[in-house]
Amino acid sequence: MKAEIIAVGTEILLGQVVNTNATFLSEELADLGIEVYYHSVVGDNPERLESLLKTADQRSDLVVLCGGLGPTTDDLTKDVVAAHVGQRLVEDAAGRKELETFFTRAKREMTANNLRQVLVFEDGNALPNETGLAIGIFYQSPTTAFLLLPGPPSELRPMFLHHGKALLQEKFPQQEQLISRVLRFYGIGESKLVTQLAQLIENQTNPTIAPYAKPNEVTLRLTVKTQDEKSGQKLLDETEAAIKEEVGEYFYGYGEENSLEAVVVKLLQDKGCTVTAAESLTAGLFQATLANVSGASQIFSGGFVTYAKEQKEKLLQINPNLLAEHGVVSEACAKAMAQNAREIIGADYALSFTGVAGPNELEGQPAGTVWIGLASEKEVVAYLYHFTRDRSYVRHSAVMAGLDLLRHAVLKK
Ligand code: ATP
Ligand code: MG
Repeated sequence: MKAEIIAVGTEILLGQVVNTNATFLSEELADLGIEVYYHSVVGDNPERLESLLKTADQRSDLVVLCGGLGPTTDDLTKDVVAAHVGQRLVEDAAGRKELETFFTRAKREMTANNLRQVLVFEDGNALPNETGLAIGIFYQSPTTAFLLLPGPPSELRPMFLHHGKALLQEKFPQQEQLISRVLRFYGIGESKLVTQLAQLIENQTNPTIAPYAKPNEVTLRLTVKTQDEKSGQKLLDETEAAIKEEVGEYFYGYGEENSLEAVVVKLLQDKGCTVTAAESLTAGLFQATLANVSGASQIFSGGFVTYAKEQKEKLLQINPNLLAEHGVVSEACAKAMAQNAREIIGADYALSFTGVAGPNELEGQPAGTVWIGLASEKEVVAYLYHFTRDRSYVRHSAVMAGLDLLRHAVLKK
């Protein structure tokens, strides 16, 4: 089963719109066991679309088109595909009713071109649009199936998930499905990870292992081709175990969406612990990052942003002599910030961040020099980091390092 995706729209060719529909559809089709061989983009031009359709019709079993289902004359996908497969366009009765209700409710006058949005193929399936007006179409010619979806992702996604997916599963039952598992790592760069896993990655065909570098972390996507869920999961378990044998110390969680902060918040919740922070160079970024996670209020009640020296003295009650003697970018300052924050707030853990975001140096220390302190019931410690790149990357790196320090401390408890 070979599929391809055609995005229709001049705005994509001009670079004004990113083709996220292709990304979404590729992932979804892979989940259905349908292999996507080509992505293309074509402008709102009937001749060029027809020429691409000819090629697609010959090389693919399924052609998914997105965009150009709207009411205006540049929305020509339906007309061109209808002509290509020799189908007559007819009105979809349910779609027409929705359209009329919409205009009555909105107290707006419906114009004739709006009716174009509810045209479907005479012998095709109509796909309802739950979040818009243009109806989608599925049609099977003797050689090729065509799926026409609207351009706006807010319409395309629900239409595909609620209607298109089931239709494809019914028309093309697959013996094999693809199952993916994402492993997340912190504290190891992509090149080092790939080097350590080189043999595994090379010898591995099912599951495949695909690394992906994100700012300050790396993920590995394992994808297995399988006849049934259970044996697929077993293969994934085995590969995961082999990976962890090599780089397990850097592994922190699963899933595309499961960030380091989400893992840390969950861990603190599970252990019934709280955290606070005193932030200088990160100026609240650590605390804002924690608050990205819903339910953060259970583990975080507040903290400090002490950017200037005076505020470290005033809000955190740090002895001015300590700062005069050691400077603010120092182990002593990081420890004092963490310890005092923990005591003032009454939290189980406190992190502190003090350092040089850059681009200029501070107290004779280069940009990227950061001390992170951690105070707990047991001890007060501080670690020195040398981050690179620009100011915002240094601050983000510091937050990630702080989260990881905290994660290790809570895990040990
Ligand atoms: P409409 O009824 O809104 O005109 P349509 O089905 O005719 O919908 P287009 O006119 O092609 O779709 O695109 C409408 C908008 O949808 C675009 O301006 C763009 O914001 C978004 N869009 C279109 N194609 C894509 C794509 N491939 N990926 C992401 N977004 C897209
Ligand atoms: Mg349009």
